[in-house]
Amino acid sequence: MKATFEVADVLNKCWDQYKSVCKNTWQIRTLNAIRRCRTASMGGHVDACSSCGNITISYNSCRNRHCQNAKETKTTMDRSKRI
Ligand SMILES: [Zn+2]
Repeated sequence: MKATFEVADVLNKCWDQYKSVCKNTWQIRTLNAIRRCRTASMGGHVDACSSCGNITISYNSCRNRHCQNAKETKTTMDRSKRI
């Protein structure tokens, strides 16, 4: 089940307030990575199926260990390596 709002949505809505309470640049960089994760600002790639021609656009994750989106992607990739 997909959540109605993600952490990135909340961060984007109140970014100036969150940024003002951060105590150091590390916190700002972490929150900024989370809000940009899986968006066009992180870059991406296009996957095209050679059989049916279906095209899928995928955006890169932030790869920050505090980001749930990036963590889920890494877990999925690790599981697929084990199989
Ligand atoms: Zn992320």
